[in-house]
Amino acid sequence: MVRNYFPETLSEALKIKRDDPETVPVAGGTDVMVSKKDAGSYLYLAGLKELKQTCVSGDDLVIGAGEAYRELLEEPLIPELLKAAMREVASPAIRNSGTLAGNICNASPAGDTLPPLYCMDAEVELSSMTGDGQVTARKLAISEFITGVRKLNKRPEELVTAVVIPGFKKTNGMKMYYEKVGARRSEAISKLSFAGLCLRDDNSKIISDIRFAFGSVGITTVRIRDEELKFLSAKDGRYSDMAEEITNDLDRVLKPIDDQRSTAEYRKRVSLNILKDFLQKCSEGSL
Ligand SMILES: Cc1cc2nc3c(=O)[nH]c(=O)nc-3n(C[C@H](O)[C@H](O)[C@H](O)COP(=O)(O)OP(=O)(O)OC[C@H]3O[C@@H](n4cnc5c(N)ncnc54)[C@H](O)[C@@H]3O)c2cc1C
Repeated sequence: MVRNYFPETLSEALKIKRDDPETVPVAGGTDVMVSKKDAGSYLYLAGLKELKQTCVSGDDLVIGAGEAYRELLEEPLIPELLKAAMREVASPAIRNSGTLAGNICNASPAGDTLPPLYCMDAEVELSSMTGDGQVTARKLAISEFITGVRKLNKRPEELVTAVVIPGFKKTNGMKMYYEKVGARRSEAISKLSFAGLCLRDDNSKIISDIRFAFGSVGITTVRIRDEELKFLSAKDGRYSDMAEEITNDLDRVLKPIDDQRSTAEYRKRVSLNILKDFLQKCSEGSL
């Protein structure tokens, strides 16, 4: 018989997860409900007020793991790059219950919010309860948390309690770029997606920071800091020459696959075209 837990507090939820580590957490349930796997038990998190908070802590923006897309889209603190991706997720019905934390924990290469989160160096807060009832938490960079398709660096007794955007005011001050390519305007899982951020000093025309990440062209989101640094190292602001080199590098690195949604060739070609467009706009200052 399937067992369902409906904890009323986070501490109760963590105790359940400690005592029944195989129980499957359910946030909005939009991925769990279509999963073909039957679990012995489910842990429903939607009633936990502690996970429904978004706040600023020092330089960090801390987004509660239970916050649904609809709530986050109405929240002024959420970075525009993340909002741009969230607006593209599914349809209003899914955005009413689906969560950012659920998108991360689903660890799909096509998760729409992942490229923006990688660009913003997002961290995942994981909490658990020890045998003597103490609650402990640790943080992992999103790139260390997601290790493969549906694979997470997470202990069975842990729950994701927050998504943290460090230094979010700096990233909020950067120009943003987001593209999702799907089969139609809404209710479409990505064929590919791309997120970029650029900080350009308009007076000196120097770009002091750039970040870009690709979705659906590898087993996890692809962001390569060395390529970003290479772009920034362009001599005398000759960014256009460097853009060509970086596109060629990425041509060798991106490893998309053929599947029911697209072909590897299409994914790679369109991703590189989008990268070129992004780098050109950064170079010209037209983002
Ligand atoms: C019709 C449809 C359209 C969709 N379209 C899109 C789309 O366009 N783009 C896109 O990216 N996704 C899409 N999805 C997928 C899904 O809606 C998103 O991934 C969503 O963000 C999942 O959030 P959730 O809260 O519903 O997660 P859930 O289904 O509740 O959970 C997802 C996974 O995360 C785990 N989990 C959830 N919360 C926690 C937690 N706090 N701690 C530990 N583990 C946790 C669950 O156990 C499960 O493994 C679509 C799904 C459907 C059904």
